[in-house]
Amino acid sequence: MYASKTKRYPAQSIQGILSHFLKSHCTQPLPGDILSDMLGITDKIETQDQHVLNVGELLAQHDIAPTQQRRQIAQILFAQPQHLSADQVLERVNQKGTVASKATVYNTLGLFARKGLIREVIVDPSKVFYDSNTSPHHHFYNIDTGLLQDIENQELNLHGLPTLPAGVELDSIDIIVRIRTAE
Ligand SMILES: [Zn+2]
Repeated sequence: MYASKTKRYPAQSIQGILSHFLKSHCTQPLPGDILSDMLGITDKIETQDQHVLNVGELLAQHDIAPTQQRRQIAQILFAQPQHLSADQVLERVNQKGTVASKATVYNTLGLFARKGLIREVIVDPSKVFYDSNTSPHHHFYNIDTGLLQDIENQELNLHGLPTLPAGVELDSIDIIVRIRTAE
């Protein structure tokens, strides 16, 4: 049945191999939903506040082609308001049984941030968090525990902002208030 034992599948993930197998061995076209169900992929996720979010639509709205891996990563990020490092996202993708490379996860997160789907919070060059909440807000960062927490925008009042250089306008202000565990 197989042309060669060294036949290579285009995708390295279990889902990719299964998807490729089904597509190449089923004579009848499979309805997209059935294939997604078999692969355990759905675009609709229920968020913490019981809001149903369609990640496929969310990606499309941000001009991002909704590939399987991007949809999976978006599902992880938007399940609840949260701050995750790229390694934590990678760990969760792999827990779902998919084998995603570190580079794919990093590239996807970078793309999501560039397109405004998520916000990149750079605490220091070795500590970057991806925030599913893109509304204006600030953060507490605990240097002892590494925990990043939201500060509501209205909780922090700023006075005496410097005069902006000529020819520019204000884009955003995000403040990281560094804290440590009290002794
Ligand atoms: Zn945040």
